[in-house]
Amino acid sequence: MYETQFKIVLAALLLIDAGIRLYYQRDRKIFERAAVKRERREKFLYYLVGLGLIPIFFYSLTSWIDTFRLPFSAGVRWLGAGLIFAGDLLFIWSHKALGRNWSPILEIRKCHTLVTDGPYRFIRHPMYAAILLIGIGVSFLSANWIVTLSYMLPVICLYLIRVSDEEKMMIEKFGDEYREYMRRTGRLTPKLRI
Ligand code: SAH
Repeated sequence: MYETQFKIVLAALLLIDAGIRLYYQRDRKIFERAAVKRERREKFLYYLVGLGLIPIFFYSLTSWIDTFRLPFSAGVRWLGAGLIFAGDLLFIWSHKALGRNWSPILEIRKCHTLVTDGPYRFIRHPMYAAILLIGIGVSFLSANWIVTLSYMLPVICLYLIRVSDEEKMMIEKFGDEYREYMRRTGRLTPKLRI
């Protein structure tokens, strides 16, 4: 009954998401690269995540995929909008903290520093946590399984394939400093006991 409102809210929240990314990646090429890992695989995964967003536009702008419904109540769907909003805030906070160290693939910059403040004080992968939280929100809000699968599958693949290589790369660069940081923090949720 509120389908049009859900579509508008989803499109607006994801445009905010795209705006955040465009804003923070604007001068990323200025900072020279010192090392890169598995560049082709990483680029492939990054583009796969991008392709997975296309059904969201079909969902928001047309009624072509409206029949692929999930049985969520209006309350769950508005909760989805809240989760996307919370994910957007975590996404901004992570970008602000990571600054010039951010990269869409696995690379180390010449001036790379280990960030352990902002959300990185609590978890090692707040940006991936934000992207996964946004995914759950997208699923609830769209209540559409084509949108859900096309967003979640590439994001889960990217996370599972990338995360241990990323941590290995960070250990190569920062050694015991990163090992000690790992001891204090969880990957996606804070460590309750150290
Ligand atoms: N996994 C992190 C960062 C994603 S961006 C997150 O989810 O928030 C990926 C790049 O961030 C990697 O190429 C790596 O060089 C860099 N990176 C990851 N953790 C970092 C940290 N704690 N400090 C500095 N750079 C980091």
